Amino acid sequence: MKLPKCPCCEERFKYFEVFWIKKKDRHKCSKCNEALLVVIKKQGKTLAGFLAGAGFSAFVFCFLTANSNALLPAVLTAMPFFVFYTLIPFFIEFKKCKMF
Ligand SMILES: [Zn+2]
Repeated sequence: MKLPKCPCCEERFKYFEVFWIKKKDRHKCSKCNEALLVVIKKQGKTLAGFLAGAGFSAFVFCFLTANSNALLPAVLTAMPFFVFYTLIPFFIEFKKCKMF
């Protein structure tokens, strides 16, 4: 897994940079000033679906086993989302955007 890089100048973006950029759909490369389109890779969407399913299953599992520990279901359910949130910069891709 690698962090995305600029398609124009090959400059690799830093983790926290991408972390904030992911909320936008367009971004200007700080090095070459090229306008870029922010896209989530297909694997990223698959991962999101998988983790949402895992979170839901964890929740159902805790519900069915009637776990007396109230914190456990919350942790198990939140975990996949946390994982996704942490990994998302690796699933971001930049594309050249001519319309900017
Ligand atoms: Zn660039």
